[in-house]
Amino acid sequence: MAAAVPIDRECEVVVLGGGFSGLSAARALARRGVDVVVLEARDRVGGRSWTESVGGLRLDRGGQWIGPTQTRLQSLADELGVATFPTHTAGEAVELRDGVRHTYAGLIPTFDAPAAADAVEAILDLDLAALEVPTHAPWEAADAGRLDGTTLAGWMDDHLGSPVARDLLSVAVRGVFGAEPEELSLLFTLFYLHAGGGLSNLVRTTGGAQERRFVGGSQQLANGMADEIGDRVVLGSPVEVVRFDSDRDCGVTVTARRPGDGSWSVRAERAVLAVPPVIASRLDWVPHRPALRDQLAMRMPMGTVTKVHALYDRPFWRHDGLNGQLVADAGPLSSTFDDSPVDGGRGVLVGFVAGRDCRRFERDGLAGVKAVLEQLGRAFGPRAAEPLELGVQRWSEEAYTGGGPVALAVPGALSTLGPALREPVGPVHWAGTETATEWCGYLEGALQSGERAAAEVLDALGARS
Ligand SMILES: Cc1cc2nc3c(=O)[nH]c(=O)nc-3n(C[C@H](O)[C@H](O)[C@H](O)COP(=O)(O)OP(=O)(O)OC[C@H]3O[C@@H](n4cnc5c(N)ncnc54)[C@H](O)[C@@H]3O)c2cc1C
Repeated sequence: MAAAVPIDRECEVVVLGGGFSGLSAARALARRGVDVVVLEARDRVGGRSWTESVGGLRLDRGGQWIGPTQTRLQSLADELGVATFPTHTAGEAVELRDGVRHTYAGLIPTFDAPAAADAVEAILDLDLAALEVPTHAPWEAADAGRLDGTTLAGWMDDHLGSPVARDLLSVAVRGVFGAEPEELSLLFTLFYLHAGGGLSNLVRTTGGAQERRFVGGSQQLANGMADEIGDRVVLGSPVEVVRFDSDRDCGVTVTARRPGDGSWSVRAERAVLAVPPVIASRLDWVPHRPALRDQLAMRMPMGTVTKVHALYDRPFWRHDGLNGQLVADAGPLSSTFDDSPVDGGRGVLVGFVAGRDCRRFERDGLAGVKAVLEQLGRAFGPRAAEPLELGVQRWSEEAYTGGGPVALAVPGALSTLGPALREPVGPVHWAGTETATEWCGYLEGALQSGERAAAEVLDALGARS
């Protein structure tokens, strides 16, 4: 049994992490009268949703878009009175290929028409194959072992002849996962696509995952949930140790740092860990780690993404007939979108540096930032190379996140260890968007995972009473 430690606070449920998943779990529990405490490491809630004021504008440094079928997210926004508005899409997009600039209309660059057709066919093939992978248990898919024994890159070798088509798909994958096709288990990829309605849905603006934004930013939704939970959300309190006995139902004690006050321990009947898998693995577990969950977490690294905001006095590209979207075969940026405020009074381009390009960008330092500006200039004209401000948010530097936008699963992870993703270990339950079966990796998935974990805990507490 775990050694006793002095207890500073007792409650029924302690939630680790005040991101969308932890707050949705805590809110659901609090609404059922459960005494819940949320320990959040940062001095803010929201986790991978973080809205910051830059140059007088509210900009989302992390998650920002909402799309069709994300019903929990929409209901939360409605409840809190947070309006949404459509991503600006009027005009043509820009493709940079082999250093040459082209413009195009529609979903996919069409400069090389046969390659574009191949890429679209591949996306549809993947989306069809994804429907065969059950989102609640990908490891139960027919042929799960074979699908998990190969990478998405292996699938592309078999299905895509043209290097340009391969590039087009790689850019899409980089944007969605923050990773290269070589890093992704095919089984995991198909699961993820199924959970989000298909790759064609995940890469789309209108009608897809990038359809709308929140007026004032996505973090307002986390703030709204936290306000409801009140002073039971404790900020600046990173958990360091989790003590529990997996064989006996005698509760869980977590020890966290407290600003200016050393550390404190909270004892609860149940805990919900609402952090990315790799972050849970970095905790001290006493007397021993939750072995299978920990093994799985080591096979679920975070993606690599840096988000860049370029601010201008107005969205000048709109007047040039452009919609602010860029697709580039070589980095640093692999994609951009128009991120201007709802009134269009100022101009903002948001760009993603992801996967291999992001790793190079981190090594290049200032030269990498200069390369971003040059690339913006090549895509949208010289004015784009001279923004009033440039914001660079490196998610891999964030100690309490470790990368982004999501954790991915490497080959062999899900088919051999998948059930450990959500299976409670003694009094410890797992939330976090990575555990979602709908919209895994997205804000919507985080909310779903929190609700599911809360239901599990309520069941367990009900069984107790
Ligand atoms: C660049 C980027 C762009 C994205 N774009 C979109 C988008 O447009 N739309 C969309 O739907 N999704 C998007 N996402 C994904 C979305 O942001 C995440 O799916 C979602 O925020 C995850 O919520 P979560 O609660 O599961 O995890 P997190 O948000 O990671 O929350 C975990 C929380 O735990 C805290 N924590 C960590 N360690 C400890 C500890 N030891 N003790 C206590 N607390 C701890 C963290 O500080 C954090 O607050 C994006 C993500 C990124 C990074």
